[in-house]
Amino acid sequence: MPELAYLNGEIMPIEKAFVPIEDRGYQFGDAVYEYIASHDGKMFFVDDHISRLERSMKELSFPKVSLKTVKSAVEKLFKESQIKRAGIYIQISRAVDQRNHAFSNKEPVQIVMTVRALPEKHIHAKDGAAAITMEDYRWDRCDIKTVQLLPNILSKQKAVDKGAYDTIFISKEKIVREATSSNVFIIKNGSVVTHPLTNNILPGITRKVILEICQNKNIPFEERFFSLTDLYDADEVFLSGTTTEVLPIISIDNKAIADGKPGKLTKILYGELRLRAGVK
Ligand code: PLP
Repeated sequence: MPELAYLNGEIMPIEKAFVPIEDRGYQFGDAVYEYIASHDGKMFFVDDHISRLERSMKELSFPKVSLKTVKSAVEKLFKESQIKRAGIYIQISRAVDQRNHAFSNKEPVQIVMTVRALPEKHIHAKDGAAAITMEDYRWDRCDIKTVQLLPNILSKQKAVDKGAYDTIFISKEKIVREATSSNVFIIKNGSVVTHPLTNNILPGITRKVILEICQNKNIPFEERFFSLTDLYDADEVFLSGTTTEVLPIISIDNKAIADGKPGKLTKILYGELRLRAGVK
């Protein structure tokens, strides 16, 4: 089961794939990306990921790209790898150009992908994880999935340095936004609550699926702003994301959430998400 790369139409071993040093993605972070997971041989919500990729490119005035081509390339790469539980990374950059902040969009975009094996389960799936909070100092277009991830990287590292799993971003007004690579949910009095879709968070595909599950299972849910105090006082907290899946958060800033154990509804949503992903 080879881990493979796709580079502008060709599939090859990952270590054989190189991009030119004047690629704008490399020099300016002028690139967008997606990360798709497959569980048991089936890619999860691939069309939603492709649509979000299209939206990211549109918002950044990228040249038009055939999404049919991108989708069939992802499918081909995934099939060739024969990896059943895989993470497929897609990055599209504004190609090679002489270094200049302004862009010409004259060259076709550069498309790269990799497919690698994913662990069967998130390491903290069963027992939950600790998080810290930090003021959100990212730009105000966090709804676009770009490779410019320095604030996310540094904030994640800060959590790791403090012995936690992740950092949750809080606005100046103390509104809870999202974590460094996942959306944040709280559960209070049986109701599932998450930040509404605005320019300050990524419209997570897992977030959307979780809300659909709530709808189908008659679990009350709200997309509304909630505060840092609400986060500390929640009955349950979890993160959602493609590889994060539904991850219980059991302590925040060294304060236990409820009894400091993964919550009951969080476990139900984890099970339902895995069921929808076709995990046996
Ligand atoms: N928020 C951020 C900042 C992310 O980077 C991600 C995923 O990479 C998510 C949320 C979750 O999105 P998804 O569920 O589509 O993986």
